[in-house]
Amino acid sequence: MAKTCYYEVLNVERSSTDREISKAYRKLAVKFHPDSNPGDEEASAKFKQAAEAYEVLSDSEKRARYDRHGFAGVEGGGSQFGSAEDIFAAFGEMFGGGGGGFGDIFGRSSGPRRGADIQIQMTLTLEEAASGVTKNVQFERPANCGTCDGSGSKPGTQPQGCQQCGGRGQVLQSAGILRVQTTCPVCRGAGKIIVEPCTDCRGQGQVAKEVDLEVVIPGGVDDGMQVRLSGEGEPSPGGGRPGDCFCYINVRKHKLFHREGQNLILQMPISFTQAALGAEIEVPTLEGPETIKIKRGTQSGEVFKVVGKGMPNPRGGRKGDLLIQIFIETPKKLDAEQEKLLRQLAELEKTNVMPEQKNFLQRISDYFATSETT
Ligand SMILES: [Zn+2]
Ligand SMILES: [Zn+2]
Repeated sequence: MAKTCYYEVLNVERSSTDREISKAYRKLAVKFHPDSNPGDEEASAKFKQAAEAYEVLSDSEKRARYDRHGFAGVEGGGSQFGSAEDIFAAFGEMFGGGGGGFGDIFGRSSGPRRGADIQIQMTLTLEEAASGVTKNVQFERPANCGTCDGSGSKPGTQPQGCQQCGGRGQVLQSAGILRVQTTCPVCRGAGKIIVEPCTDCRGQGQVAKEVDLEVVIPGGVDDGMQVRLSGEGEPSPGGGRPGDCFCYINVRKHKLFHREGQNLILQMPISFTQAALGAEIEVPTLEGPETIKIKRGTQSGEVFKVVGKGMPNPRGGRKGDLLIQIFIETPKKLDAEQEKLLRQLAELEKTNVMPEQKNFLQRISDYFATSETT
């Protein structure tokens, strides 16, 4: 099937600025959004087409490739957006959504607003983050008031139509030749005014309710990531779709392991003799102890890798590695026997300077030689 040029899809010039492109896309997204066109396949296709065009043209790198090579330059990726929902998530901020995200802008033209999103926090240990975990979280979330069934009016009473806007929820304001439609300031867009408020929710239609939610965290999550719980946000005041709940992950610092991306880093002390002679040592991993071989002549700062003992990738794929960084520990106390042996060794070393040391001593003497002459 022949594809329509992305610039034609958005109805913009090839020379358009980023602003013009997002403006054009916004217009089309509002017009063809599935919420405003339920069951309309053509609108849905146009909505997806516009999203795909916008995805390419809003990204300077992809746009340059498209300009040079056409569709071939941007193929393979296709649209990363599977559904209107994903597009909400991606563009929520651009649309100035705040709590309601996309719902705000579409809500006005297509019935009830989407409920607001909720943010919650969860703190995990590194072990929990590695293995993944299912945890229950408790938090307060508004729910429709049971007494008034969400209407805000005392049971048995009816709200009155708003006189200011005649029940439309919108008023026209004139400013010179401009006429602007805005939300009615009296009823705040509801079109109705509650005469006798429900006493349980004080006319809000909603009350805070404690919820207990089971959250499944995939293995490999990192500090600052968020897990989205679709539809677990606040309910829509007008009976529309609820918002989402975003669970922000905090991962506690670990006593032994330091995380860097998918790798874990462990600082491991060994003795001077183990470093010089080589040794087999036991190191901790998240899955229990493991034995590694330290080669003869290991230096402080050298890194040994234990493949596959890092963190898993929450999106699947290869696990990270455990990197063991060696440092050589100098004994602080010596018994008589140790001291005797070390003194013998020191005697030997006087006549037998180590190669690294030799180089270094040479560099020092060179340094003083040059600074004396200048
Ligand atoms: Zn109520
Ligand atoms: Zn009104």
